[in-house]
Order: sequence, then C-alpha cells, then structure tokens
Amino acid sequence: MNQLVKLQKEWFNEGHTKNFQFRKEQLYKMKTMLETFESPVLKSLKFDLSKSEYEAYTSEIAFLKSEINIQLKNLKSWMSKTKVKSPLTHTGSKNYILKEPYGTTLIIAPWNYPIQLALAPMIGAIASGNTVIIKPSELTPTVSWVIKRMIEQYFPTHYIAVVEGDKKITQELLNQPLDYVFFTGSVNVGKKIMEQASQRLIPVTLELGGKSPAIVHKDASINLAAKRIVWGKFTNAGQTCIAPDYLYIHHEIKAELLKAIKKYIYKFYGEKSLLNDKYVKIINQQHFDRVSSYLEEGNILIGGRVDSRNHRIEPSVIDQVTWNDSVMQDEIFGPVLPILTYDQLDEVIDQVEQRPKPLALYYFGENELDQKKVTESLSFGGGCINDTLYHILNSHLPFGGVGESGMGSYHGEASFNTFTHEKSITKQTTKFDQAFRYPGSELGLKVI
Ligand code: NAD
Repeated sequence: MNQLVKLQKEWFNEGHTKNFQFRKEQLYKMKTMLETFESPVLKSLKFDLSKSEYEAYTSEIAFLKSEINIQLKNLKSWMSKTKVKSPLTHTGSKNYILKEPYGTTLIIAPWNYPIQLALAPMIGAIASGNTVIIKPSELTPTVSWVIKRMIEQYFPTHYIAVVEGDKKITQELLNQPLDYVFFTGSVNVGKKIMEQASQRLIPVTLELGGKSPAIVHKDASINLAAKRIVWGKFTNAGQTCIAPDYLYIHHEIKAELLKAIKKYIYKFYGEKSLLNDKYVKIINQQHFDRVSSYLEEGNILIGGRVDSRNHRIEPSVIDQVTWNDSVMQDEIFGPVLPILTYDQLDEVIDQVEQRPKPLALYYFGENELDQKKVTESLSFGGGCINDTLYHILNSHLPFGGVGESGMGSYHGEASFNTFTHEKSITKQTTKFDQAFRYPGSELGLKVI
C-alpha cells in the first residue's frame, strides 16, 4: 500500500494529470474500456447478484456513459480559473480561483451497484486531475475481479490502481498519506472511515444510507404512485441506498393503493417471483437472514415467501409495524416494504423529523402547497415529488446525503467540485501601493 501511494504521489507531482488534453484522453479511454468490457461486466453482475442484463445496463453502465459525456462537454470551462471581483481595498490587484486536483484519491465502494459506485466517482476524480485507487467490495468478488482486470488493461498503476480485499485492506489503505477519500457504504462504517481519515486530516465524502420514506397523500395519482413505488423499491431487490424504505399512506387511500401495488408487483416480477431469474437475489446468507426476519415482525399483505437456498425474497408488503420493531429501526436494504398510515401530514413531518435525516424522501400528491410543505420543511439528501429514484439519474442534480445519511455530493459538476480544491489567488500590483493597511496610517485609501 505504501509503495503504491508513494508511486502515485510521485507521478502526480510530476504534473501529468494537470492539463486538459490528458484528462480528456483518459475520459475517452474510460468510455472505450466500458464498451470493450461490457460483456464481462454484465456477466459478473449476473453471477454475483443475479442482475438481469437490462437492469445491469440501465442502472450501472448507462449512467457511467452519460456521466463521462457530461464531464467531457464541460471540462474545459469547469477547470479554467475563475476570475472574481476585487473590493476597493484590493484596487490594482487581480483575484481568481485556481482549480487544483487534490492528488491521490481513494474510492471505497459497496456491493449493491458495484460497477457504478466504484466507477462514477472515478470519472469525477479523473476529470479533476487526480490519481485514483479503487477498493471494490469483497462481497461481489467476480465484479471486483473484472474491475481490476479492466483498469489494469487501460490505465497504468501509477495513475489508477485497484486494490481488492476486505476491511483490513481498507484500513491499511487509510493509514497512507492519501489526499482524498470518497466512501460509499453504511452509516456505521462511514463513521469509522471518517475517524481513521481524521488522523491525517484527509478530507472525505461520505455517501451513506438510512431510512428513506415515501409518503402517499390522499390526492395522489394512485396508480402512478403504486407503479413508481414498486419500481423504486424492488429494483435490485430493494438493495438500493435511495429505495423507499417504508411507506406512509393516508388512511383513506390505503386499500386502493395496496391493490395497485400488488398489481404492479405481479406485472413486473410475476406471481412467482422466486422463480423469475431476472429478479435480483439477496447478496449473502447474513443479509438474507436479516431481511427475512423482518417478515416476522408485521402482518404480511403481499408476498412473504422466501427461497433460502438461492437467497431470494419475494417483493413483500407488511403492515401492523411500530417504530419499535427492528424493521422500522434499521435500514431495510431488501424487498420488504412496511406500511404506516396517517391522518394529517403534520403527523408524518413530526415523525420523520424525530429521526436521522434520510438520504431520500418521496412525496406523492397533487397539491402544490403540500408538496412545498413536505419538501421544504424536512431535511433530507434529495428526492422526488410524484416519483422515486429519478433524481439520482439526472447528472445536473448533485447527489448526496445530509446529517447521518452522508456529507458531500457528486454527479456532474458536483463530482468535478468534490475532487477539486479551490485555490484562491490575489495577484497584487507593483505599480503603486495603498497606505491604509500599514501601521501609522490613519489616512484611508491614500496611494503612496
Ligand atoms: P459497508 O459499509 O459494509 O461496506 C462498504 C465498503 O467499506 C466495502 O468496500 C467494505 O469492504 C468496506 N468496509 C467495511 N467495513 C469496513 C471497516 N470497518 N473499515 C474500513 N472499511 C470497511 O456497506 P455495504 O454493505 O457494502 O453497502 C450497503 C450500504 O451502503 C447501505 O447502508 C447503503 O445504504 C449504502 N449505500 C449508499 C449509497 C449512496 O450513494 N449514498 C449507495 C449505495 C449503498
């Protein structure tokens, strides 16, 4: 680890990554790499997670390609120095901000979108002119292996390297003199990463998780709400950081909404989803046991069957849960959707406010005052009105959490800014000087 970081730092200090042409070429190279390795990437996602080609392409590869295009389109203007105004006290000087790469960055990725979440931050790091070390998740070993092979084929180790392994390896990496750490994963591990990085005052971005509510008010377009909630919740079998974790439904529309939810679960995944090989499995035995146990805490309304041999859990909806049940305490991160009902929106706002700030929040309802009330009075990372997940797919929107759901953001320009230090420069004139700042001068702005 020590040698690798030293190698990257030395190479970075030689200045290769700083010019526009170099960064542009690397982004094009990454695009070619994704095209060449498309088939192994799709196969590895099928092998480790049972992701269908369609789901793997739309949720992992397509996003990366559009992210590269956005960086390529805007890179020149984002990396150019920004001139700023000068106050009267600075008369004669020029003031500007230089966009400086941090240096050697570490990207630590989780297993749920193991390609996208390892490589999307890398796009930002390349565009900003950094060197990169990627630590993929050990829970998707085939994907991790493919990431290593493709990076090795396209990039030299002194520029971009992949280090495979578990938490011990990550901790060793964090002991090195890195210049930036970009972590995606759970809240608990995020706290440890930040603690370790603080020993060297290494800046961090933390993309974490939590419980993201979906609220369906009585004036919602029920059929569309159901369709979009089923898609957002059960894509990747609920193993999505911004999946609706639980539903808050206005009591008057509960029966109608549940009927529509059931219709779309069957439409998307079939009545026998356990036999549908396009439906994603749960990553491992430990997570399978954890998510299955939530089914015992409520009254099962839809689904509820499991296949322990193949780690599959049906898209399931449960009610009669309380905030004291572990299904309402932990981030579910699986295909179990608990339901609470309410009478007044204020009750919902009050309950959500008492808990850690969610990574995402979804509100379904037509009244604009209610939309405004919910989205502007509650604090959360980001979200949608009348949809789920879609905000993450727009690279013009910064993506990230707040409070316990994370710090910092990325995608599009936010990615460029995340991996860039803004260096402020005052270029002073030598043609004249102003007396007011020097001791003994009470004469204001006299020029001397
Ligand atoms: P995790 O926190 O267990 O692991 C993430 C990474 O950290 C892995 O590479 C792992 O090897 C490493 N790691 C684990 N323990 C460590 C330790 N003690 N010290 C150093 N490194 C350690 O997360 P996960 O299970 O892979 O992913 C699921 C979590 O990630 C969920 O909470 C989910 O909400 C969150 N997530 C967030 C986003 C986001 O963009 N905000 C995206 C996907 C997943």
